[in-house]
Amino acid sequence: MALRLFNTLARATEEFVPIAPPRVGLYCCGPTVYDFGHIGNFRTFVFSDLVRRHLEFRGFAVNHVMNITDVEDKIIRRVRETGTPLREYTGRFTDAFLQDLDALGCRRPHHLPRATDHIDGMIRLIARLVERGIAYRTPDGSVYFGIEKYRASERWPGCACRYGQLVNLNFDEQRATERVAADEYEKDHIADFALWKARVPDDGDVFWESPWGQGRPGWHIECSAMSLALLGDGFDVHLGGEDLAFPHHEDEIAQSEAAGGLEGGLWNERRPFVKYWLHAAHLLVEGKKMSKSLGNFHTLRDLLGRGYTGREVRQLLLAAHYRDTFNFTVEGLDGARAALARIDECTAKLREAAGNAVAAGPAPALVTAFGAALDEDFNVSRGWAAVFDWVRDTNRALAAGEIDAARAAAELAAWERVDGVLGLGGKSAEEAPAAAVALLEARTAAKKAKDFARADTIRAELKALGWAVEDTAKGPKLKKT
Ligand code: AMP
Ligand code: ZN
Repeated sequence: MALRLFNTLARATEEFVPIAPPRVGLYCCGPTVYDFGHIGNFRTFVFSDLVRRHLEFRGFAVNHVMNITDVEDKIIRRVRETGTPLREYTGRFTDAFLQDLDALGCRRPHHLPRATDHIDGMIRLIARLVERGIAYRTPDGSVYFGIEKYRASERWPGCACRYGQLVNLNFDEQRATERVAADEYEKDHIADFALWKARVPDDGDVFWESPWGQGRPGWHIECSAMSLALLGDGFDVHLGGEDLAFPHHEDEIAQSEAAGGLEGGLWNERRPFVKYWLHAAHLLVEGKKMSKSLGNFHTLRDLLGRGYTGREVRQLLLAAHYRDTFNFTVEGLDGARAALARIDECTAKLREAAGNAVAAGPAPALVTAFGAALDEDFNVSRGWAAVFDWVRDTNRALAAGEIDAARAAAELAAWERVDGVLGLGGKSAEEAPAAAVALLEARTAAKKAKDFARADTIRAELKALGWAVEDTAKGPKLKKT
């Protein structure tokens, strides 16, 4: 059965047919690195990891790109307030972001371009838009994208080249209701957006030279330049949170298609900028969007500090279908812990039953049922149902003595294939809290120094914290008691 996904562009579920199979280009709008990400942001990033893993499971060769927005208003303000150089400031939060991605079991994207490394591409796109008469300069030296000019511009056959592809827009209504920000009064049309922002004193030394004078790029052009540079003119999948559909993604489409791509490839190949757009619904807290401005957010670090693991947070973030909003609660995390314990218990029993046996017998149904669920617009809720049916049936069959070693090995192999998509991994020593890991290291040092009394004291301290030390061939490991 083919993979089908809900394409925001078509407002319908469509069969997934990549431009040049088996290759798939996947772009996800990444974090703005001005602070630690909250787990609402990570719902979207974990979803992009799920999409990549499922595409790989289906045999596609995915090129996964996630940008790092490292120049933007909030960042500039923080840089100014803290007196830290831009790269140093954003570098710190980029590292933290990557650690969080790892803790959540996400495969690292193949490319993590920083916006500040792609200024040349942005200038090229803007220059093309100016040359085509679609972008215009304002007296302060900024450059704006002219929506009306775009709507009246020449298109190439087969291209929608329309503003309002992801959302239906009523321009006249918009003109009347949208607030005009004080510093944007020079725009021709309310929906026009900045491609290049002229340098102002508050920008400090955050600026680049351009044909329009010193300044910095607008946020939307950053994503167009990076995605086109790394995935080519016209690619398969673009993904982000639902709040990005308008105006960010709509503007990405407009400027990329109006420019014809970075190399003119969109015009030459008569392709749209992106074939499939996926939008993940928000994570809510008590019915409201989790966001920094509302102050109702949790960072991953907060939750790890409260004793939850990255694996448990991942399970919860993947619990619901990506197009359904999902209410985050700490009780939900306890539920995730219980769900994982059921899976871990079952796989541990299977491992024991399998011993060193090689998988044999009919292919377990789990892989088929799970794969079919995810083929239907990444229906992970149905996927979990397949997993827990399997856990129940496997436990029953194990208890009835119906599973021999070869079958146990086959069931385990099936689980591992499914987990290649879910990305939960095994319960491991890395999940021990930092305090326990530090004690383990101290014990190793004590043993090395032949201070066995101290090593034993530390072992007792660890036991009191609920962790046993197992000395294995690969060194000491922590195991939850
Ligand atoms: P930002 O760092 O604010 O640019 O956001 C990074 C990503 O997180 C974007 O794709 C947003 O759409 C997404 N996002 C922001 N808030 C939430 C939320 N509460 N739930 C899910 N995704 C979110
Ligand atoms: Zn973006």
